[in-house]
Amino acid sequence: MCALELDDVSVRFRDGEGWTYALRDVSLTVSAGEFRAVTGPSGSGKSTLLAVAGLLLTPTYGTVRIGGKDVSEASATARTDLRRADIGFVFQQPHLLGSLTALEQLQLVARLDGDRSAATTEHAKELLDQVGLGHVMHKRPSALSGGQRQRVGIARALMGDPKLLLVDEPTSALDLERGLAIVDLLRTLTTERRLGTLLVTHDLATLAERDEVVRLVDGRIPEPQPVPGWSP
Ligand code: ADP
Ligand code: ADP
Repeated sequence: MCALELDDVSVRFRDGEGWTYALRDVSLTVSAGEFRAVTGPSGSGKSTLLAVAGLLLTPTYGTVRIGGKDVSEASATARTDLRRADIGFVFQQPHLLGSLTALEQLQLVARLDGDRSAATTEHAKELLDQVGLGHVMHKRPSALSGGQRQRVGIARALMGDPKLLLVDEPTSALDLERGLAIVDLLRTLTTERRLGTLLVTHDLATLAERDEVVRLVDGRIPEPQPVPGWSP
């Protein structure tokens, strides 16, 4: 089952008399249980790719499928519903509320939907345990370290049990050791929760050799270059 499929996706913006292509003919899949990283220089289309995958931006051309369902033509309301049901977002900064404890940050997600059930609180506690914050779940952000705050953001993104996790530069405010721990946590969660995870990062040092890495160049995923003198 594919959490995300992009098929020949192009996104263009008006640029004076002409067009700028932020993405051009990008095809990419992320299966359940698959961790995939996207890198590329500034302006290469990474943010646009995340916006398309997160159903925040409809591509000019091409097809987007979430959990096998074609959402290219979905209405704005349908996209909002799909986003809430199927997609979790982790941002560069976790944007936590200063007055709430780690547990309350997660409970808030459910309470905005009118859910105050004990089962949801248990779910939030399990998630905090899984990201290594069981012992600090009653602390407010000011009493947490940078790495711990980012873990709260990750746990919060998983509250709705998404199929697809979209992660935008989660390590840019952390030192290498903590960054490595965050990316490692994301890999583990991907496997254990059968998520499809798409990580956008500049931070190549946090990636491992075994990771599947897609490089964007000027809005495209370049074809692998043939090796000179090599024939099949
Ligand atoms: P990255 O995240 O890799 O820095 P972006 O996806 O932000 O790249 O941008 C890709 C290209 O699309 C850039 O040339 C950028 O200027 C252009 N672009 C992105 N968003 C818009 C927009 N809303 N209007 C016009 N051009 C845009
Ligand atoms: P910091 O060092 O800034 O506190 P870390 O991201 O390194 O942030 O760790 C955050 C919390 O996660 C720590 O309180 C630690 O107990 C816990 N932790 C660190 N690594 C793991 C791990 N591999 N598995 C579970 N919990 C972990």
